[in-house]
Amino acid sequence: MSDEAKIKIENPFHTARLKPLRKGKKPPKLLALVHQSGCTGCEVCIAGCPVDSIELVPGPDPSNPGYQQVVEIDFSRCIGCQNCSIDCPWDTITMYEHDDAFVAWGTETLSTQLYIDEEKYVEIMEKNSPLKAS
Ligand code: SF4
Ligand code: SF4
Repeated sequence: MSDEAKIKIENPFHTARLKPLRKGKKPPKLLALVHQSGCTGCEVCIAGCPVDSIELVPGPDPSNPGYQQVVEIDFSRCIGCQNCSIDCPWDTITMYEHDDAFVAWGTETLSTQLYIDEEKYVEIMEKNSPLKAS
């Protein structure tokens, strides 16, 4: 990841933010993480997720987004059921202890839309602020 040193925050503009929140006050013991270098984008894992917390990341060509697509997991909604890690035909999803998953995310994530740079978020918010002079 080229900009892994930057602070990432949840992307508030992603459609995943419109999905139901995870129930319960405590986060799950385990979280699923995609090793994107091994992900073929086959979408098998998406079908088996009971809370619909696996999102597609389009490939680099906007005119053909399905080519070289991968998936990523919304940590804020994953319930740690392990279905995806069992279902993935390429063994490219691993269950991590909750805190370890965030550390591994930094090295295993090549492309994300669920998380954005904090500075990018600030830039977008400032650009769309009603107080901004026109
Ligand atoms: S099942 Fe595995 S290879 Fe297929 S999209 Fe999910 S993580 Fe990627
Ligand atoms: S562990 Fe379960 S809830 Fe989490 S992403 Fe995988 S299938 Fe979905």
